[in-house]
Amino acid sequence: MEVKEEAELNESKGLNFVEEEVYNDLRAGKNGGRLSTRFPPEPNGYLHIGHAKAICMDFGVAEKFGGTCNLRFDDTNPVKEDVEYVDSIREDIHWLGFDWGDREYYASDYFPQLYDLAIRLIKEGKAYVDDQTSEEIAAQKGTPTVPGTESPYRNRSVEENLDLFTRMNAGEFEEGSRVLRAKLDMASSNMHFRDPIMYRIIKYPHHRTGTTWKVYPMYDFAHGQSDYFEGVTHSICTLEFVPHRPLYEHFVKELADETYCPRQIEFNRLNLTYTVMSKRKLLQLVKEGLVAGWDDPRMPTISGMRRRGYTPESVRNFINTIGYTKYEALNSISLLEHAVRDDLNRIATRVMAVVNPVKLVIDNYPEDLVETVTMENNPEQEGSGVHEMPFCREIYIERDDFMENPPKKFFRLAPGTEVRLKGAYIIKASENPEDIERDSEGNITTIHCTYDPESRSGLPGAARKVKGTLHWVSARHAIDGEVRLYDRLFEVENPAAETERDFREMLNPDSLKVVTGVKLEPFIIKESEKGRKFQFQRVGYFTPDYDYTDEKPVFNRTIALKDTWEKVQKKN
Ligand code: ATP
Ligand code: MG
Repeated sequence: MEVKEEAELNESKGLNFVEEEVYNDLRAGKNGGRLSTRFPPEPNGYLHIGHAKAICMDFGVAEKFGGTCNLRFDDTNPVKEDVEYVDSIREDIHWLGFDWGDREYYASDYFPQLYDLAIRLIKEGKAYVDDQTSEEIAAQKGTPTVPGTESPYRNRSVEENLDLFTRMNAGEFEEGSRVLRAKLDMASSNMHFRDPIMYRIIKYPHHRTGTTWKVYPMYDFAHGQSDYFEGVTHSICTLEFVPHRPLYEHFVKELADETYCPRQIEFNRLNLTYTVMSKRKLLQLVKEGLVAGWDDPRMPTISGMRRRGYTPESVRNFINTIGYTKYEALNSISLLEHAVRDDLNRIATRVMAVVNPVKLVIDNYPEDLVETVTMENNPEQEGSGVHEMPFCREIYIERDDFMENPPKKFFRLAPGTEVRLKGAYIIKASENPEDIERDSEGNITTIHCTYDPESRSGLPGAARKVKGTLHWVSARHAIDGEVRLYDRLFEVENPAAETERDFREMLNPDSLKVVTGVKLEPFIIKESEKGRKFQFQRVGYFTPDYDYTDEKPVFNRTIALKDTWEKVQKKN
């Protein structure tokens, strides 16, 4: 017996504090040992990385302890909701690697039961119709230290309340003219108990129930009861709901008995640097065309991250790393980017692309010869194989890999110096100034050089050491493409904390650079159909964009190879 206890204790050690609570409830046999959670998005926007944290918790804890997790659309405000959002939410949860089986529910499914409960509470003298405006009601709320004032309509008769509430739902009254309130305690130290609003009039058609209803339940009157109707045992949410918990429990107790009662547990929200997480602000960015849509690769949305080339594994690993606590914090986006690099380093196919090309002519290389060099697809992954790359007399290298007057520690190409072309030969740039060709504006167009025919791998000269190695693409075989270089969406660390400026003024003007005329090795085109993740060697991680076509291959830079912001920050 004692041994078992200890084993169980050890087992419980790898758990976060929410899992620990769940584990203890299961051990105590609460709710008949059943575990059921839910993820409850409101379909009023696309999911973001913060929601991913909630998803990993809600589905993760159910998976861990053999329970189930429902997907419940919290669709109680028809004005802001849309089926487009419902569809995107489904897709994003699946992409993250979770599934709700046939347990897809809607708070609107419970409108009849919620309405019946409201009627019951009115009959029991626990709810009343208030004819005041929302401003008047707010003015009577009081403050945490000053009690509120009771509404002049608080002591209406049951009959009058029933009559008014049914007529509210029949559409007889204007929006905002009346609400249904719970008769609780206007002096409660918990502001949420000061006669909270249960129902409001909304005359906008609902995306599922149409014009059936003219009254809609508030969050606090819908959420706990929906949990109860669904048999949810653990209602896990974020810390801002801590003060709502007593009200959650209060309403749930109107339904529950000792055999089953849902329980609310709260954890800290995910907040990320250099972005915003408010759906309202994200919607504004979309509506005002400040980004290309909800799935713009700069957005903190799950769909944006997917389009940018983030993997679900990297998102989940990041969420694991930051963990779950009871304290609000701001998480560094560098941690997320680190997780993305880590995963892409493991899975990305290594290829060559020259983003800002300049032509190089190897004067002593036979004009018509084409050799093939063999490239490893991924040194980090056994069995990932190799692919072949054509090599010929004219190739492209990056413009800034050549300098006419290099500083001392420049280990790339300069007149008279040698570098290795990765996987191929050692070349030497000509020292003759006339071997650098220019256009009318003086920009270098072609650099002439020679190669050492003995320096190719497998030949005697291959062991010869040179300081630099460059990536390159055969000019004759290269395919032109476009790359979109993304950077952080905002230029300040915590836009939400800046009260002086509108958040849109803090957008990073350099968050997107489009580069055309990028030279791609042909293998990239072949592999892009398969939706591959690539490492353009020495450049960064890239993925084909949704705009990709055979005529115009387009790639998103998922992330640079190194954290360039870290360098900037250290310098400053
Ligand atoms: P709002 O309610 O203002 O529209 P929301 O971001 O809370 O926005 P919901 O659709 O209600 O959106 O969120 C669904 C679930 O995701 C909730 O349980 C909520 O607690 C959780 N969630 C939302 N934002 C975050 C975040 N930044 N970190 C962790 N969980 C979050
Ligand atoms: Mg919410």
